Amino acid sequence: MLMSEVNHQTIVTVPHLKDYDSLQDSFSWKKVHEKLEGLPDGQGMNIAHEAVDRHAAGALKNHVAIRWVMKNRSTKDFTYNDLHRSSNQFANVLTMLGVTKGETVFTLLNRVPELYIAALGTLKKTAIFCPLFSVFGPEPVYQRLSRGEAKVVVTTLDQFYKKIKPQLDRLPKLQKILLTDAEAHINDHVLSLPYLMLKASSGFTIPPTNEDDPALLHFTSGTTGMPKGALHVHKAVLIHFITGQLVLDFHPDDIYWCTADPGWVTGTSYGIIAPLVNGVTNIVDEEEFDAARWYSILEEHKVNVWYTAPTAFRRLMRMNIKPRKQYNLEHLRLVLSVGEPLHAEAVRWGEETFEVPVLDNWWQTETGGIMISNYRNMPVKPGSMGKPLPGIEAAIAEVTDDKFRIIDKPGKDGHLVLKKGWPSMFKTYLHEEERYNKCFRGEWYVTGDLANRDKDGYYWFVGRADDIIKTSGHMVGPFEVESALMEHPAIAEAAVIGKPDPTIGEMVKAFVVLKPKNKADDNLRLDIIAHARKKLGAAVAPKEIAFTDHLPKTRSGKILRRLLKARELGLPEGDLSTLERP
Ligand code: AMP
Repeated sequence: MLMSEVNHQTIVTVPHLKDYDSLQDSFSWKKVHEKLEGLPDGQGMNIAHEAVDRHAAGALKNHVAIRWVMKNRSTKDFTYNDLHRSSNQFANVLTMLGVTKGETVFTLLNRVPELYIAALGTLKKTAIFCPLFSVFGPEPVYQRLSRGEAKVVVTTLDQFYKKIKPQLDRLPKLQKILLTDAEAHINDHVLSLPYLMLKASSGFTIPPTNEDDPALLHFTSGTTGMPKGALHVHKAVLIHFITGQLVLDFHPDDIYWCTADPGWVTGTSYGIIAPLVNGVTNIVDEEEFDAARWYSILEEHKVNVWYTAPTAFRRLMRMNIKPRKQYNLEHLRLVLSVGEPLHAEAVRWGEETFEVPVLDNWWQTETGGIMISNYRNMPVKPGSMGKPLPGIEAAIAEVTDDKFRIIDKPGKDGHLVLKKGWPSMFKTYLHEEERYNKCFRGEWYVTGDLANRDKDGYYWFVGRADDIIKTSGHMVGPFEVESALMEHPAIAEAAVIGKPDPTIGEMVKAFVVLKPKNKADDNLRLDIIAHARKKLGAAVAPKEIAFTDHLPKTRSGKILRRLLKARELGLPEGDLSTLERP
């Protein structure tokens, strides 16, 4: 592949965000609102109308909305009109079953078309959609169905119904289970979805939807405790739309792929809504991570914009594959990452490997969409999360039980806070109103993350407030230490915790996974400590290094430091529902 072809791709699409500072000044949510259509006759705003119906009624009617890549690599395309009709059918099925506004519809499915159709149909019905990650075991499934007061679950007979069946007595609110792979109903409660869809009309009028009506329920990853159920409203679509423009930089005819499962907020906000609202073609891969498969999907489907996670970067970095040499990735224009800090090392590797900008961005389940990001048209500082989305006011604050103060001075660590009121701000934590209220201090939402802002306005992640290590009077963020460790040539992955120590409060302890062909011995241990001391100074560098084959992670790929700590200290392991089982 010739470099000029890459440049050609880059040149023909002019970035939407041309001048960050002037857009910050002129930005208004009202203007974003006006770019969306709203329901006919001023009946409000519904995510599914913006994502599908308005396109199906216009020029994108026959444009591919979703390209589903099956496990065996064959594909099936769904146009905007196909999605419009099938989501109408699903909404009509819900009507037949007596589902009403504000009731909850869950899915427990792999990444199959029914998941996407159920999501859109549920939103049309003004019910609340909650996707569950299909590999959850029976107890986490029960916990979420119960807390989310599921009325309907869409799942499969073959693989997943067995996780729900033994729990039915404990789920009195669950009325119907819809099986995507059953030809006939099993009983009055366990029904065949294909049969119901066949009977349902493909015409449906979305009822009036207040933009503040609940739409989506997402459980957090549980990196710092029991997953919380964050509820989002229909006007979140404003963020999905505008970040699709300003961050993902969608252009007409783009092919886009987000590798996240809709069971995590990224897989819904950016694996369903943002691409559809922006009218691009959304690749959905049914299979899990596989480096060769992923590179060849990028090649075969001519992906332009790729949104993935640091865990994928780490896995790809460990492999000796040169994708630009082995695959034709000439269409790739942008690679983005979210979910965990993307170390400077990974950003540089990504830029060299893909020869396109690699843009880290920050947000969380509670924020519903991207809040801080690097942008295609702005210099990237590797290791930084970037700058707040135009329209979002972020700050660093000192927060204690009785004190809240915005820190204006650049370079100071503190709590990352956001000015309340952005469209995709979560409306509540389900059944935990008090916990929700505690997240706010006056006009500000306290994110639970620590960060700092440099003199150019870029934000740098320090760590989850719960993961911060207090050692010899210093506050040490795991990210800083892990980033330094990752620069050691033998280290593939690193996680850092604080271990209680009678003299210094907490001692920094690191768990490291080595790259292949490195021997875990005392020489290497000393070399790593020396490397860390040089980079970080003796006070901050780890005093203990443990070699391990893998780090405990959530199923969405986030390192579970609290579990490393609990195991180290012999404490109860806490909620492990999101733990990835190797
Ligand atoms: P979740 O609750 O699963 O949505 O996880 C959100 C958390 O992931 C954030 O509060 C951060 O701690 C972390 N996170 C997400 N994106 C980034 C990023 N780009 N850099 C650092 N941390 C991130």
